[in-house]
Amino acid sequence: MRICDMVSHIRLLCGITAMGFRDYFTRNTRKGQRNEELPVDNSEFPTSSNPQGLCPRCNKQSSFDFIGELPATFSTVTRISDYVENNKDYFDKVSSLVCRNCDQPTIVIEERLIGDSKDPSEFKGGRITWNGLFWWPFLNIENSEEIPDQISSTLNESRITHAVKCYRSSAVMARRTLEAIAHDKGETKGTLANRLESLTKKGVLSPALSDWAKEVRLIGNSGAHFDPLEEVTQDDSNQIIVFIEELIKYLYIMPSELDKRRKKAT
Ligand SMILES: [Zn+2]
Repeated sequence: MRICDMVSHIRLLCGITAMGFRDYFTRNTRKGQRNEELPVDNSEFPTSSNPQGLCPRCNKQSSFDFIGELPATFSTVTRISDYVENNKDYFDKVSSLVCRNCDQPTIVIEERLIGDSKDPSEFKGGRITWNGLFWWPFLNIENSEEIPDQISSTLNESRITHAVKCYRSSAVMARRTLEAIAHDKGETKGTLANRLESLTKKGVLSPALSDWAKEVRLIGNSGAHFDPLEEVTQDDSNQIIVFIEELIKYLYIMPSELDKRRKKAT
């Protein structure tokens, strides 16, 4: 089954509309109310070169105002003319960016790229951009009360490591989230593959969800074991987080919402 088919299937299973689904990977633009093209959400944190994306404080997609920077690592080169007081060149810096949604600053440590290179000995010219390395504060994630703590905390680690571009770590934590889900659903022994198989036989996982769960397990394995041919990409990491979020909605949030609705009706 192709990825887009799986996503459609999961949408149908979860009853989620296309507009409500965090569709990061099937297209590059989304349509507005007037059918205008709008940029897709940026699942990464902002940088001074790309001051938009996920705000670590309010956890909303936002744009940011750059309010200042300070050097973090000096290079040995002295600039002929610069606005820095001591004229020292620097290749790492700290930037402060204010979120236009919550009006609070986020601090990001950034490394300088010239073209694609960050090594001054390899500079061949090109545009200067700043690549984010660390952000403060840490991502503020609120999870539904319906999700067991051991599942939400592991998923949060996967989201945080994804946001700071540690995709292998993110994949390993996504796999661990799957293990926590299997454990919570009564599968506590054997390999994860066997436990997923057992959940599928019990009907807890539909065949489409089971296929995706296997994918998470395999990508998580790639993250955990060294293999230069099986690197975890940003898309891999993004896709498995989106899948696990949808899986959690299907297994925990939707049954709880239905239960609440029925109790209200009686
Ligand atoms: Zn914010």
